[in-house]
Amino acid sequence: LRQGKEVSNPLSPPRNHCIRCGECCRRSSPSLQWEDLTLLEKDLIEKRTLFTVRKGEMVRDNIRGCLVVVDTEIVKVKEMEEGGCLLYDDLARACRIYPNRPVQCAALKCWDPREFEKVFKGAKIRRSDIVSDPVLLGLIQQHERRCSFERLESHVKRIQVEGERALGAILEFLRFDFEIRPFVSHKLGIPFEEMDLVFGRPLIKTITRFGLQVIRQPDGAFFLTILKSPAGGKTSLSH
Ligand code: SF4
Ligand code: SF4
Repeated sequence: LRQGKEVSNPLSPPRNHCIRCGECCRRSSPSLQWEDLTLLEKDLIEKRTLFTVRKGEMVRDNIRGCLVVVDTEIVKVKEMEEGGCLLYDDLARACRIYPNRPVQCAALKCWDPREFEKVFKGAKIRRSDIVSDPVLLGLIQQHERRCSFERLESHVKRIQVEGERALGAILEFLRFDFEIRPFVSHKLGIPFEEMDLVFGRPLIKTITRFGLQVIRQPDGAFFLTILKSPAGGKTSLSH
């Protein structure tokens, strides 16, 4: 959304229209609803700007104001390191795709959540709605089976009892998830930037859900440590 002339002021009367201050865009990004499929079909939203929140990932639920574990996958616009939507142009103070912004953005009224909540309840896009190549779909399914959060969690729970054995199994998950990305990108000629959409964000980042952190060694090996303050990360479910 774009910066308007009106400036928000605590003494202003309650807002009843959008002043395009961009505050909502700088806070989080939208997840894609079924109605947004046409934006992808017409390349109005590039796949490299999206990522998948996989089933079992922990994210912030902005509506309920708490951390939740997602029970179904979600496709979302990437967020910047410091938070906020990747498609927001901070210098121009405007959305880069404003005329074609996702339905969640169009429905968001910071002064009245009703329309947004109605849109949010609708069906969401999944990877299988976007990916048509059967080879790639098969690889996504294989990755899901091998690197599901459910399987990962069961190994994390065994660390205390099994020690090195459980850690070894977790490291194997991390390596497979890490190595499949450049391999598939190269073999199928898909830009590497699209791999977070194809396979979700790398497990070496999302493993923080279990209070673990991965440190890369100089030789490229992974080293697992315990996070000082386990967190669900900054990623949100939607706006
Ligand atoms: S919906 Fe609200 S926060 Fe978002 S741009 Fe409009 S006025 Fe700003
Ligand atoms: S897609 Fe555009 S309107 Fe929606 S959050 Fe991102 S920058 Fe804002």
